Order: sequence, then structure tokens, then C-alpha cells
Amino acid sequence: MNCPLWAGGNFAATRKASHRSYPWQNDLFVSVSGQSTREVAMFKAFLDSLLNAKKHAEHAADPFTGVKEVLNFNPDNIVNDAIDEAIEHLGLLKPSAKPSIQALIPRCMAEGFKAVSLSHRKDGEQLSKEEKKALRIRSNGFMSKTAASELSETGRLKPLEAHFLTLWRADFTIDRAKSIVAASSQEFGCINQLGGHRDGCALCAENYDKAIDPFKASPFPPVECPNAACGMMFRVSVDWVAVHKKQR
Ligand SMILES: [Zn+2]
Repeated sequence: MNCPLWAGGNFAATRKASHRSYPWQNDLFVSVSGQSTREVAMFKAFLDSLLNAKKHAEHAADPFTGVKEVLNFNPDNIVNDAIDEAIEHLGLLKPSAKPSIQALIPRCMAEGFKAVSLSHRKDGEQLSKEEKKALRIRSNGFMSKTAASELSETGRLKPLEAHFLTLWRADFTIDRAKSIVAASSQEFGCINQLGGHRDGCALCAENYDKAIDPFKASPFPPVECPNAACGMMFRVSVDWVAVHKKQR
């Protein structure tokens, strides 16, 4: 399947490169939103089995030797790239907000995007009543001087949502990247698009549950998606029957 919907950047990351461990790989799939802890644990166990199986296969003989397929993004830099994309696309935060977003993003799936952005606004010296009023924030609302200084002119119109939406957009991109890397590390790996919230996004609705070649998939939200934070997620699967047939 070669759908322009998924076309992303043009970074080189070989199939072999995807076997390296990435800084975010420890919490691989823990960040699939809306799943119970048990489901997440089961999924993680499934994923561990995938990764271990691959490790064993590599010990015997690497079946991917010579494979030159490349991912269309750079997994080594996806956290940075996802944050840059979210800040730039939404335009709600200044680029100088990046370190804050980097520090907050690992907490998002466990604590929730709104709770994490609230804690950021709560943490530290608060704006004066007058300054809050200028941002149309009620006097008992939270807005630290640090968080306020990170708002762009556009973000000042949505001061309570700016961090929340930026975190959400970036983290879902990172989550999709994890799925792509997991699927691409298996010879018969595949991803299907999922997404509980396809509101207003014709492309997300149209492509729901369709299989996507991991080497064609982009973790970034489709440019056509009208939502600030696209809710699209990828589910990883492996065609074990094909693997078995090949091994016979
Ligand atoms: Zn969408």
C-alpha cells in the first residue's frame, strides 16, 4: 500500500537500525491510551516476545541481512522531531518551550495530558491576578510565570490548552513511531490504523483498521487531519503463518 496519507519525512533508518534500543523503548506500548493495565501488560508481554524472538533469530542468522528498506523517519530522533512538529504545527508555544515539553512528555500516558499540563502551570511562581486577567484566566486558575512565558501570541488566546494540545500531538506521534519500529523489526510485521476519536477527520475514518506497510507509514499526523491532536494509533501484528511457512 502506498498511500500519500502516510508519507512523512525522508530520514534513513534501515531495518537493521530499528533493532537498536531507543530511549523510549523501556515504556514501549505502555502509552497506548485507553487500555487497562492488564491489557497493556499483555500487549507488553506480546511485544517482549517479539523482540526476544528477533534477538534469537539474530543469533542464529540474521534473515534481514542485505535488506535495504528504510523507515521514512529517524527513530533515533523521533522524540525531538515529534515535539518540534507539534510546536510548529500548532503554534501555541514558543520554540523555547521545548525543554518543558521534553521533561513532561514521559509522564503523559501514566498521568494524563491534562493533569500533566495542569501540574506544569501549577508548578512555580504564579502570575498576578492582573496578569491572569489579561489572559482571561480566572483568579483561582493556575498559570506559572514559566508556563506563561512559553505561550506564543496564538497560545495566549488558549492559555489553558496550549501545553495540553502540544503534549498530546507530540506523544501520539511518538507512540505511532514505537509501533512502526516494532512492526518493521519483524519480516512479516504489519500495522493497522486504529483510533477511537476520528472526529472530523475523513482520512482517519476512511483508513480505520486498514493494514499499512511499516516502511510506508509515517508516525506524524496526516497533514490533512483537521484535529489539533490526531487520535490515530497503530496496532502491531505479525503474520506468524507466513513466518512459519518460510521457516519450513
Ligand atoms: Zn486525524
